[in-house]
Amino acid sequence: MNILVVGGAGYIGSHAVRFLLAAGHRVTIYDNLSRGHREAVPSELLVQGELTDRSKLVSLMREHQIDAVMHFAAFALVNESVSDPSEYYCNNVIASLELLEAMKEAGVFKIVFSSTTATYGEAETMPISEDAPQQPISPYGFTKLVIERALSDYATAYGFGYVALRYFNAAGAHPDGTIGEDHDPESHLIPVVLQVALGQRDQITIFGNDFPTPDGTCLRDYIHVDDLASAHVRALELIEPGKGICANLGTGRGTSVQEVIEACRKITGHPIPTVMSHRRAGDPAELVADNRRAQELLDWVPKYDSIDAIVKTAWKWHRSHPNGFAT
Ligand code: UDP
Repeated sequence: MNILVVGGAGYIGSHAVRFLLAAGHRVTIYDNLSRGHREAVPSELLVQGELTDRSKLVSLMREHQIDAVMHFAAFALVNESVSDPSEYYCNNVIASLELLEAMKEAGVFKIVFSSTTATYGEAETMPISEDAPQQPISPYGFTKLVIERALSDYATAYGFGYVALRYFNAAGAHPDGTIGEDHDPESHLIPVVLQVALGQRDQITIFGNDFPTPDGTCLRDYIHVDDLASAHVRALELIEPGKGICANLGTGRGTSVQEVIEACRKITGHPIPTVMSHRRAGDPAELVADNRRAQELLDWVPKYDSIDAIVKTAWKWHRSHPNGFAT
């Protein structure tokens, strides 16, 4: 198929591009490079532009005879969405609606959409299934939920077919060490811990050890970015006109902050000093996926089945690119 990968120069998008190419799809990448990296993708596939540039997008889709869109372009930091919501409403809602309008005009009605566990808010039962109430507690989660709803309405009214994939905690890097996570500033747990191992930070701050979890620190479901990428390729095969599917992408396994740090100590050989701090606003104690729907519908299982295996790939990337793509 001819696939337009919107936000394809970002962390998850660039890994999906690798998988799409390996599966024999023809790929066009559209990215404004505000958070993505030119170096993360083959330059001949990249078109730089804004989602709000409707005429550019429509002609691109026509010119490349696009069959389906994968939409990764979004801002994705919960904290930032609280302090600067306008960026999130403009980037994640307005720009996504512009994309859907461009698709409608170009006659492209298939889309795989990056959604998130943040659409569930404080889930009451673990693991979280797709039927859990979606009550986001951050602007970020709400912006993603708005687009899930828009997709559902566009499916009914205009025949869009879509798969919305709700990611848990994306982690790790391509095993060849050539692409990986590069955010500025970095706030995600694994890269920040590995910055301590690289000598770029003195210590890691643990945000709370008084949660109702076995060691008192938060439990998260870390899923390897290549497992996310492979699920996207499978999702393309499931899209049907007028129908929508939502599926969680996680491993079904919770790992605590302490366990992540311990895995990083083991893999890097660095002692990684920690300092205890208060809870970060909006952090639920536990977020773990019920991933049965994705397993059944996508015929997919996460290949990286331990936090060690995930951290090893992240370490290979960060060690060889201590300043990210800038090196
Ligand atoms: N965390 C932490 N110290 C840090 C960064 C994160 O203790 O410097 C914790 C955070 O409170 C959460 C977990 O690590 O429980 C994962 O956080 P991250 O920001 O990676 O992802 P999120 O779950 O917020 O999407």
